[in-house]
Amino acid sequence: MKIRYFDHAATTPVREEVIKEMLPYFGIEYGNASVMYSLGRNAKRAMKEARRRVAKALNADMNEIYFTSCGSESDNLAIKGFAYANKDKGNHIITTKIEHHAVLDSCKTLEKQGFNVTYLGVDEEGRISLEELTNAITDQTILISIMFANNEIGTIEPIEEIGKIAKEKNIIFHTDAVQAIGNVKIDVKRLNIDMLSLSGHKFYAPKGVGALYVKNGINFTKLQDGGGQENNKRAGTENVAEIVGLGKAIEIIYNEYEEYNESLKKLRDHYITRVQNEIKDSKVNGDMLRRLPGNANISFKNVMGSKLLFELDRYGICASAGSACSTNNVEPSHVLTAIGLDKDLIEGTLRVSFGKDNTIDDVDYLVDKIKEIVN
Ligand SMILES: *Cc1c(COP(=O)(O)O)cnc(C)c1O
Repeated sequence: MKIRYFDHAATTPVREEVIKEMLPYFGIEYGNASVMYSLGRNAKRAMKEARRRVAKALNADMNEIYFTSCGSESDNLAIKGFAYANKDKGNHIITTKIEHHAVLDSCKTLEKQGFNVTYLGVDEEGRISLEELTNAITDQTILISIMFANNEIGTIEPIEEIGKIAKEKNIIFHTDAVQAIGNVKIDVKRLNIDMLSLSGHKFYAPKGVGALYVKNGINFTKLQDGGGQENNKRAGTENVAEIVGLGKAIEIIYNEYEEYNESLKKLRDHYITRVQNEIKDSKVNGDMLRRLPGNANISFKNVMGSKLLFELDRYGICASAGSACSTNNVEPSHVLTAIGLDKDLIEGTLRVSFGKDNTIDDVDYLVDKIKEIVN
């Protein structure tokens, strides 16, 4: 049976060009990037090129990019690493209720260690209020961590305005941009972003490699002790092949940004229009305009999301109920709860996230099957 994959917010397939670029570093170019001889220097050079590509995509400097093992590690390093290094300046952090658990749970850990955290609520579309943010700031606030775009409902937060507020108040601004990379153009200088997390496997690089951008001059503590890799901020022999893959993938996705965005929007809008016209009692969640191009999150009345997924799977369709990270979780989605969705609608929610290989035919097949199952 043909597999139709609509879960790109959970992970993406690795691009052919990315695999090709990585292959030598699994094979003949197996050197450790920290050694002196040529085999090591080759690895070091390849990592440097990857760092250059990531920096270019974000309009950052090369020495502001730290490679990590995933988006979750980047979030941990940004939030806990920054808090530990700057606790003499204050003990208050502001974040939101709809963050990924890598951010939420890092904040929970800090709370147990004497930090105070404000979790901002969001409106029905999933956007924070700038007024609430401003009011939450105290003279103890050292860090604001607000995600660029939400992984469940696709809502894009007012990042530019948040960056302005943070800069005015002299507070460091971190954003989890894991879902935004490739889908939104990001210029960290223009947007006043001080720290930014990203993860390779959300934009056609492999799983197990991520990066953290930290603006020069910002101090943070390493969380993993050992060698002096990554400018002594992240110990452990570098995952050279996958770092090379991440660099290639971010370069490609921004080279193809316009076409990629347009094609995702076309698929998404076709999907949403058909569902709204043909399936009654369906509700689209998230912000209709300020939204990731490939995200459609729709709740169906009197439908069990898990049952719907199970039935779709029998037709070779991969989609998601909430986020992939919480499928083992019986708790209702914290994001859908935060936007005030009724419990029965939360249960009937289907997240579809489109990618570069999906076609309009695939979308039609998907809608036909949803209709059949829901009815
Ligand atoms: C996927 C995701 C993460 C975690 O990234 P991993 O590389 O899977 O650890 C963090 N934040 C958001 C918004 C995500 O979508």
